[in-house]
Amino acid sequence: MKIILLGSPGAGKGTIAKVLNQFDGSVQISTGDILRAAVAEGTELGKQAEATMKAGDLVTDELIMVMMEEQLKQDDCKAGYLLDGFPRTIPQAKALKILLDKMGENLDCALELVVAKDVIIDRLTTRRTCTQCGEIYNVKSKPPKLEGVCDVCGGNIVQRNDETGAAINNRLEVYLEQTAPLVHFYRDEGLLVSVQGSDSEQVLEALKTRLGILVE
Ligand code: AMP
Repeated sequence: MKIILLGSPGAGKGTIAKVLNQFDGSVQISTGDILRAAVAEGTELGKQAEATMKAGDLVTDELIMVMMEEQLKQDDCKAGYLLDGFPRTIPQAKALKILLDKMGENLDCALELVVAKDVIIDRLTTRRTCTQCGEIYNVKSKPPKLEGVCDVCGGNIVQRNDETGAAINNRLEVYLEQTAPLVHFYRDEGLLVSVQGSDSEQVLEALKTRLGILVE
């Protein structure tokens, strides 16, 4: 499967990507995770992206396209991928279309997760993330067994610096202005599948109906 995951920050794209990944081994590519790793390692990309990310703004389309072109050409992407957090602007979507045409590849669908704003804000403020492996926790619904320690890798669990107060509001505004128009873009491309809520079962049902894929 070659799927784009669309939806506001906190809509559950990462969680759904992990569920879908179990069915056919498509690789999950999260631009946010790649950028956070670059910031943590202090690479040139990380240095260029850090302040922008902290404010909840978008990294430039140019930087993102260089990074993603490299990713999508990797061998492990041949079997399929789930793009989480990319594309995020119309110019990125257009550049992706040109890149995939050049590579002779097609997307199966753009899967939009639609979740109410109050649920989104509650999720983002209570979300915690492992700095080492990126595993997602929630202080209310999915706390780690040992406070502050990742169940998966033993890494440190923190609140992301773009998931507090002003940065959250800015990310939601940026989403509405720059990313939400992608829904119309992919509807026009005949690729849009919209699913209410981020319940894994609902999403899998929608994909079965739309793509006829085997996700038993
Ligand atoms: P995420 O983990 O997807 O919420 O991404 C965290 C942050 O990384 C975003 O708020 C942006 O600053 C940056 N980012 C991730 N993906 C993109 C993208 N496709 N285009 C621009 N910035 C991005």
